[in-house]
Amino acid sequence: MNLLCNPVGAFLPPKQEAFEAQFRKELQSRHGVEFNRLYTITNMPISRYLEFLLESGNYEQYMERLANAFNPAAAAGVMCRYTISVSWDGALYDCDFNQMLDLPVDHGAPAHIRDFDPVQLNHRQITTRNHCYGCTAGSGSSCGGSVAS
Ligand code: SF4
Repeated sequence: MNLLCNPVGAFLPPKQEAFEAQFRKELQSRHGVEFNRLYTITNMPISRYLEFLLESGNYEQYMERLANAFNPAAAAGVMCRYTISVSWDGALYDCDFNQMLDLPVDHGAPAHIRDFDPVQLNHRQITTRNHCYGCTAGSGSSCGGSVAS
């Protein structure tokens, strides 16, 4: 069993290792529950969370927090560097966030599975926008939790 945790407000998740150790201890002592891994995930400023940020007046502050916490080591481990998202119709995206935002693979790399070319895709320029700060802030964030210590 793996646990996922993301903050309920406009702040970054805690350090994954420390949080995992705390949860392991508390869940074991209080409920006898054991688990394999706990992954912390940063809330991405898109979709419903973006709506929440805008409606609550937290957007500017949250984006500033993410940008100020930019971590080159986290940027080196973002999931778009080693995975690709394929939609039901074969369109290729750098990640599922870009897929949600309808930002397909760009800059001359194949944008459809029928033209799949691993060499070209490996060397593609990733399509980035402001939401990418969510992946690169602090310890970083991906579908497998934090990416840097
Ligand atoms: S949101 Fe940006 S940085 Fe994160 S995986 Fe997608 S393209 Fe990469």
